[in-house]
Amino acid sequence: MAERLTGKPVADAIKEELKGRVADLKAKGIVPKLGIVRVGARSDDLYYEGGAKKTCESIGMEYEVFEYPQDIDQESFEKAITEIGARKDIHGILMFSPLPKHLNERKIRSLIPVEKDVDSLTLGSAGKVFADDPTGFPPCTPTAVMEILKYYNIPLEGKRAVVLGRSLVVGKPAAILLLRENATVTICHSRTKNLPEVCREADILVAAVGRAKMVKEDYVKPGMVVIDVGINEDPDNPGKYCGDVDFEKVEPIVDKITPVPGGVGSVTTAVLCKHTVKACEILNGLA
Ligand code: NAP
Repeated sequence: MAERLTGKPVADAIKEELKGRVADLKAKGIVPKLGIVRVGARSDDLYYEGGAKKTCESIGMEYEVFEYPQDIDQESFEKAITEIGARKDIHGILMFSPLPKHLNERKIRSLIPVEKDVDSLTLGSAGKVFADDPTGFPPCTPTAVMEILKYYNIPLEGKRAVVLGRSLVVGKPAAILLLRENATVTICHSRTKNLPEVCREADILVAAVGRAKMVKEDYVKPGMVVIDVGINEDPDNPGKYCGDVDFEKVEPIVDKITPVPGGVGSVTTAVLCKHTVKACEILNGLA
């Protein structure tokens, strides 16, 4: 039976460390604050927002929610984002995406100041991550993957890592972060040939494809560490959700595995707050 790499102790350890850093900032009269920008009221956005607020509260950080109607026009939204970005008391900005189709999302993202871009929505942040610039914030989800690997002392140097998925929000940055830790990284996608065979070469397999239970027993081998980023509706259990890995089939074979729910997803808001605290420290010349 594989060891379950649950996210809660990882998130708790991050929050514990942040409490101290927030207290230090408050002693200097600075309160780190996250600005949460939401257009409309999609249920998954509201769910994530609820988690983010709770995490902020638990470490003594502030937040402010900026909610806009679904039909907001481009000009008004650009003005709003520019104003939020200029606010001295806001150190990190989380904007839910995708935005409604009538908005030019690329343009709007570009208005978020890179130094406050705590979930890597701008090309500036992507560039910093690509260039290993320590002031750049990678997206929270792949960072959560790395926090889990670090917390559970999974060695990465010289190991074979296979990342399944190449999105800008998960797959590509996960590959870069693994490379930074000296893993030998392969990125797979929908055109990869012999996918199960390539995945089986991994010491660490990160699944981020958005396909329920796609990773089956032929994708894995004994000794492997499997990190499941997927969040999908469970086709076998209506109303529940599941990962990209077929947990029941894969778990008996591999060495360690993250569950869904209770794995990567439960670490992301702690990472969001960690990035915001760091942004606050940098903006105040303290890091
Ligand atoms: P995405 O933008 O849809 O990207 C999916 C990637 O998987 C693409 O690179 C795609 O390849 C690849 N892919 C799709 N079908 C494939 C197949 N049959 N074989 C091989 N590769 C395939 O998804 P994403 O935003 O990266 O999200 C991935 C998963 O993570 C989703 O389940 C999402 O819900 C979840 N997620 C979780 C969190 C969290 O906090 N845990 C946060 C964000 C996302 P191509 O590039 O060739 O199309």
